[in-house]
Amino acid sequence: MKIRKRIAIYGSTGSIGTQALEVIEAHADLFELEILTAHSNADLLIQQAKRFKPNMVVISDESLYTKVNEALSGDSIKVFAGEKSLIEIAASDSYDILLAAIVGFAGLSSTIAAVQQGKIVALANKETLVVAGDIVSALVHKHQATLLPVDSEHSAIFQCLVGESSREVEKIILTASGGPFLGKKPNYLINVKKDHALQHPNWTMGAKITIDSASLMNKGLEMIEAKWLFGLKNEQIEVIVHPQSIIHSMVQFVDGSMKAQMGLPDMKLPIQYALAYPERISNDFKRFEFKNFPSLTFEAADTKTFRNLALAKDAMLLGGNAPCVLNAANEVVVEAFLKNKVGFLEMSDIIESCLEKVPLIEKPTLSDYIQCNYETRALAASFIK
Ligand code: NAD
Ligand code: MG
Repeated sequence: MKIRKRIAIYGSTGSIGTQALEVIEAHADLFELEILTAHSNADLLIQQAKRFKPNMVVISDESLYTKVNEALSGDSIKVFAGEKSLIEIAASDSYDILLAAIVGFAGLSSTIAAVQQGKIVALANKETLVVAGDIVSALVHKHQATLLPVDSEHSAIFQCLVGESSREVEKIILTASGGPFLGKKPNYLINVKKDHALQHPNWTMGAKITIDSASLMNKGLEMIEAKWLFGLKNEQIEVIVHPQSIIHSMVQFVDGSMKAQMGLPDMKLPIQYALAYPERISNDFKRFEFKNFPSLTFEAADTKTFRNLALAKDAMLLGGNAPCVLNAANEVVVEAFLKNKVGFLEMSDIIESCLEKVPLIEKPTLSDYIQCNYETRALAASFIK
């Protein structure tokens, strides 16, 4: 009998987390659920724990510890609380693969803890590489950890690179759906509200990444994520809008040949690929059929209207702590947009002001990044009434 892989899901109550649980449930012969974590959705965490019977759960909002602990008292599941527990358990021997599916900067510390133990990390939390890609990549190398991309574009590139040499990559092309506002201009975007922005045409995702997709910040974050995941130079990373979201990304090699990875948009596929890697396992997901998509189309991104993509590229080119500033300002403005406190276009204005005002550090340490995140968040918040 095969040894089952022991899985820790960090952020199990989110969009990626819940889809990962579906994958694990469908392949109980291959995967064993060891650890579940959530921030504040105690009810769902309790429900998941009762169903999947992990060894441990962590609720990072400490005020909810008693509630979770009491609810699970008869289930012989160890209950922990707080960020410190997230880090300690990520550094423990009690699992084989950590699925990093916490959203935002909050996912950085536990991902680093896992990397420092030489673990396999299935990485959904792109912000980790945006904020501190240089340090995380160096730690991956030093501790011989493995990062397996879960983001669909990066999973596509990873799959295209199997059997290839990274020296023979000319460039990669990240595809972007364009989101719900594809083709719209500033005079329209100035009035859009969260309910409209939350309606993504092709993917159902958590609120933050859905807004990032509508503003094209998501693609900007993904350029930076790709740079560190695949060790690319800035000029080797391109973006093309592909509204059908069937080609999930492409690699062009030095001989001009291109590989693309295709399929219906379903995050369960890249999640399953990362958890099962290096194997491919069968499933009953709906299959893509060419006859249902008679035309796959491509167009340049409108970075004059969707300035976040241009700002992210600028931050990538600047390097140092600039992507950390970009990410921190973006987290603050997206949260404010979701509370109707800033307008859609205003988000870019605030991010740009933060990039201008926060001093550039060329070679930041981890504590510089933590401090930079903290200070940029305060600065971004000061621009919001
Ligand atoms: P989500 O908002 O649906 O879920 C986030 C999870 O993180 C929840 O379980 C929540 O409890 C936890 N969390 C939130 N704040 C936390 C904190 N301060 N401390 C600890 N845990 C916290 O988000 P999502 O859409 O599942 O996205 C998760 C990550 O995966 C993001 O980085 C996102 O960019 C990336 N990603 C998501 C998708 C997708 O389809 N949803 C696709 C590609 C990449
Ligand atoms: Mg993506």
